[in-house]
Amino acid sequence: MQTEKEDEDDAAPEEYVALCDFTGSGSDQLSFSRADKVLVHAKPSSEWWWAELQAVRGYVPASYLHQGGAEEEEDTSLDDPWQDEEYFGSYGMLKLHLEMLSDKSRTEAYRQVILSNSASLNNKVVVDLGCGTGIISLFCAQLAQPSVVYAVEASSMAEYTKQLVKQNGCEDIVTVLQGRAEELELPEQVDVLVSEWMGNCLLFEFMVESVLSARDRWLREGGVIWPSSAALTLVPCQADSYYTEKMAFWERLYGLDFTPLQPLAQQEFFSKPKFSHLIEPGDCLAAPCDVVCLNMYTLQITDLEEIKGQFHFCVEKSGVFHGFTAWFTVHFKSLETGGATVELNTGPTSEPTHWKQTLFMLDRPVSVYAGDSISGTILLRRNPTWRRHMTVTLNWNINNSTEETDDCQVATKTFPMWR
Ligand code: SAH
Repeated sequence: MQTEKEDEDDAAPEEYVALCDFTGSGSDQLSFSRADKVLVHAKPSSEWWWAELQAVRGYVPASYLHQGGAEEEEDTSLDDPWQDEEYFGSYGMLKLHLEMLSDKSRTEAYRQVILSNSASLNNKVVVDLGCGTGIISLFCAQLAQPSVVYAVEASSMAEYTKQLVKQNGCEDIVTVLQGRAEELELPEQVDVLVSEWMGNCLLFEFMVESVLSARDRWLREGGVIWPSSAALTLVPCQADSYYTEKMAFWERLYGLDFTPLQPLAQQEFFSKPKFSHLIEPGDCLAAPCDVVCLNMYTLQITDLEEIKGQFHFCVEKSGVFHGFTAWFTVHFKSLETGGATVELNTGPTSEPTHWKQTLFMLDRPVSVYAGDSISGTILLRRNPTWRRHMTVTLNWNINNSTEETDDCQVATKTFPMWR
């Protein structure tokens, strides 16, 4: 590694933009998020490059980066608050589809929705918004007899989706339409609008806006939207190993005091939420609480600018309060009156999904005791410039039940996701 570092320092690094998230494995790989600007110092192979992000260096997979450093290109990306080139670029590759289709809980939930509603789907007109590889459309054609499924996909994956539809003999039912839903017309109104639009912390990437706009233009009166409702759930939790790995690590190293680096560690590791966190049910300090409930029939695009929620937790067991963990659940109402609702729950007591959970670390851990209460508010504020991004602000106070004094700690923290 040393040799590379020395070699590389002579040449000026080139700036690249990340097409999608990457979690490095091992200490010599560099993790990054979609849209991060990464400086490439050396290209020792066509697959792995030596790069830098926020003063940290490591190997990065070359295929995850595109050259965004050229000024012209940077300007065009600034012109697009939706960053569609990067967003749809990443759905034109297989990595995300591999991840989504490998996620059995997610994909089976959609399959179950089609299966349990197959009789009612007979002769219905369906639109699958953001069909990707077309999996939901193919389930419709395979498990039910809708009159038509319009499979809408903006990324270049649509070309392959057409082939998949043909290959599976579904071309009489499924019509693939390539384009951004907002820019397409459908030949008719639809009875059912189905979509898998959920992101981290439910809303991240804000594909939900495309769904709401399609609902308003395409769904006939009395039509059905799947998922029909969504909830964001929060719980105060312990995150001992993450805290140890990123913060306690800097206490003593090789007999030396490294604590002056802790404020930097806080900034670098705890200022943004940690996606892809898997919380153990035993790390929850209280019963989880639904903080936001969205009705997909009545939700308006303007409502997405600011979504507020409240929580009140009663600490069930004493422990260290490191942060809050969030996840979501979506519900698919049956087409039949009285039919069973299908649920996709991404929380810690369900099968893990590719969304995992989202961890919001406090700046400093707090010891809490059974009987304490943690109450407060959550605010999801959509970024006014970068429309796929948002910040999450948590306000909370801890009421200590055991102390005689009326001890109440109030705190607030805002987490950008990602801008
Ligand atoms: N339905 C597929 C893919 C879900 S991922 C599955 O369940 O596996 C979301 C997909 O929606 C991506 O392929 C993305 O390119 C597409 N998408 C997002 N916004 C869109 C829009 N406004 N118009 C068309 N496609 C969109």
